Amino acid sequence: MQTRLPETLLATPEGKRADDILRSCVHCGFCNATCPTYQVLGDELDGPRGRIYLIKELLETDDRQQAKIAQTHLDRCLTCRACETTCPSGVQYGELLEIGRSVLKSRTTRGWRDALSRRWLTRVLPYPQKFARWAAAGRLVKWLLPRQIAGQLPRKVEHRDRTPVAGGPYTRKILLLQGCVQRLATPAVNAAVAQLCNANEVETMTVDGEGCCGGLHLHLGEDVEALDAMRRNLDALQPILDEVEYVVSTASGCGVTLKDYGRLLAHDPKYSALAAEFAGKTIDIAELVGGFNVARKQNFQRIAWHAPCTLQHGQKLTGPVEQILERAGYELVAVNDGHLCCGSAGTYSVLQPDLADQLRTNKLANLTACDPDVIVTANVGCQTHLQAETDLPVLHWAQLLVSADA
Ligand code: SF4
Ligand code: SF4
Repeated sequence: MQTRLPETLLATPEGKRADDILRSCVHCGFCNATCPTYQVLGDELDGPRGRIYLIKELLETDDRQQAKIAQTHLDRCLTCRACETTCPSGVQYGELLEIGRSVLKSRTTRGWRDALSRRWLTRVLPYPQKFARWAAAGRLVKWLLPRQIAGQLPRKVEHRDRTPVAGGPYTRKILLLQGCVQRLATPAVNAAVAQLCNANEVETMTVDGEGCCGGLHLHLGEDVEALDAMRRNLDALQPILDEVEYVVSTASGCGVTLKDYGRLLAHDPKYSALAAEFAGKTIDIAELVGGFNVARKQNFQRIAWHAPCTLQHGQKLTGPVEQILERAGYELVAVNDGHLCCGSAGTYSVLQPDLADQLRTNKLANLTACDPDVIVTANVGCQTHLQAETDLPVLHWAQLLVSADA
């Protein structure tokens, strides 16, 4: 694709990168075939090719009207990156979208309701103590809340202590990240993972000062706040980094951002080396458990596997979870359209509730078509989003590798 970005923009790292990405797109449109929003809405501007064109115009001109149109269609993008997996030219759409959303933030305004929702999401969700207080209050007035928010509230905190048990001491040590939302919404996941690691003689360490990975801000176009969150996280985790073999994330939505710290902080003279080291040590839990002895520990037999977009498209990890579950003795049922997003997509289910509902309905129909006993996934957002509309249990896959009362 030919571009005419202003020289001043081309002189910046973001402008140069955006230009390179835009030029790699040959406008073939193959990506539209696997774009969830294009499939639902059927509008060229709600597919990747149209959005790439909108970002190009946004960067080439200073037309406020055009920016408003771009905002509508970029807001509807899930950041699922299915288009990247499909694109034969290797267009790095996710990076281009990051740049586009950041530029939009300085060019457009938002209605008060949208602005308030975004403010709440970025000022509350990444902070576990604040989120716990809001969740407790929200449960009292759940019937008053919009359905998409009520469905996301963590259930009452369990009476059992779910703090991961370090075990050991063992020679192999990992840093097991707690996540910000995950530690409240699905605390049983990391407790199960710690138990699984201990059974395989791997010690799990945690750090009290761990904060949000920055992904939430990044997806909402708040790149300055996102980079600040990453630096804070690196400051907190650095002291333990040399002690551990890996930094392990059990939420693929966080993992995809954590693995990208090296790129995201590449131009930061103080943090670039640390960020690259940290990203190089970060793995998804499936990459660790692939080398473990595993066994079927729960009564479920037929499993419907929902691969989060952040795992299959973002981290390009397709296959390891399925192999682990089959090795443990579970039967995976066939699931149509496994490449499509469930509609959770970080904060998307709150900001775009109608599209998120439609995508979840489609996803649950595919996941339950072959009558599974349980749905398993690898990300807290997908887990809570799907669980809100089905009576089948929705678990993290690692939970199937420890006994039910663990
Ligand atoms: S992003 Fe890739 S698949 Fe989509 S139009 Fe551009 S080159 Fe074609
Ligand atoms: S990231 Fe997902 S929703 Fe956005 S354009 Fe690509 S395929 Fe479509």
